[in-house]
Amino acid sequence: MPRVLRHKLLSKSPPSCCSFAQTKRSTGALPARCSLELSLNEGARAAGPRLLALINNTDLERYSRQILFSGLGEHGQQRLLESSAAVVGCGAIGAATAQLLARAGVGRLRVIDRDFVEPSNLQRQALFDENDARESLPKAVAAERKLRALNSAIAIEGKACDVTPENIEELLGGYSLILDGTDNFETRFLLNDFAVQANCPWIYAAAVSSYGLTYTIRPGQTACLACLLEAPDAGPMIEETCDTIGVLGPVVNLVASLQAAEAMKILSGNAQALHQRLISCDVWSGRMQSIAVLRNPQCRACVRHEYSYLNGEAQPHITLCGRDSVQIHERRRSLDLAALGEKLAAAGIAVRRNDFLLKFTAPPHEMTVFGDGRAILKGSTDPAVARSLYARYVGS
Ligand SMILES: [Zn+2]
Repeated sequence: MPRVLRHKLLSKSPPSCCSFAQTKRSTGALPARCSLELSLNEGARAAGPRLLALINNTDLERYSRQILFSGLGEHGQQRLLESSAAVVGCGAIGAATAQLLARAGVGRLRVIDRDFVEPSNLQRQALFDENDARESLPKAVAAERKLRALNSAIAIEGKACDVTPENIEELLGGYSLILDGTDNFETRFLLNDFAVQANCPWIYAAAVSSYGLTYTIRPGQTACLACLLEAPDAGPMIEETCDTIGVLGPVVNLVASLQAAEAMKILSGNAQALHQRLISCDVWSGRMQSIAVLRNPQCRACVRHEYSYLNGEAQPHITLCGRDSVQIHERRRSLDLAALGEKLAAAGIAVRRNDFLLKFTAPPHEMTVFGDGRAILKGSTDPAVARSLYARYVGS
């Protein structure tokens, strides 16, 4: 690093135009009083996005290092505090992005995930620990707890559910940005349909093996996911997943960092700084690429406004959900997990349960049932087997 730049980064000397108060801690120089300071408390901020979240002295200290960054400044920080974002899918990329945005002070964050924490997640999913895996906590629940511990001054909400055409408006309506942390194209195309129809920006991100990519989509201004992947010359979609060929922790964190930086530009009112290209990277080979993506003049979604995923024409009721497992999500209903646990235990089946889900084994299969009626079956990818076991043990 050039000496001058290094000196600037390390220097704690305040600009000469402001009056500063010294503190005992490492934040050696902070404005003694901010002109934007007012009495709005943090509880009021958490109550909703409409309230102005002007920066107070606590925020000035907390966010001082990114406020010093000239691209953001106090105004950008204020915009972040007033903004909202929804992270769909809280696996490796979603967890890392949610963590970065919570730390950065995005005022209202919603994290949505359908799955629960398992030991195989811990190698790369930075929000979860061994206790979460031991308790099989839903990722949305574990994420909400961790994010609140990281930043108690913003509004954070975890939603343990699947995003479907029926509930997507309820889950994502009103958020200023949608972040892709999903692991499948059905959900991504559903997000794309919703975002294009709602004119809401969203950021596609994916990683597998040692490579990953991200692309920021602004409806009406950039190509959308359907432009990118449904064009006649788009080539086949990559069907490999983390469950089939693995994934390295560093690449998901790299992709999440690129995604979170784009998010910060949008949410802080700096859309002019978006790089407007698809970025792909491989942490093993060191190959990095940035590609301009052109809009498809015949695009199904952003030109013809045919929202086949949003209209439910493309959503199967049973979907592959990782290696050797399927998810049943056709039976949206409220299940009494305690009663189900007692029924199964009476039949001699070993059951584990927490407040959010119930897990039991019917060798060679393992089934996890959620309170909303969803279930994930491990040990098979056959929808007929999933349907049959669900009917037998949970009831139809
Ligand atoms: Zn398009």
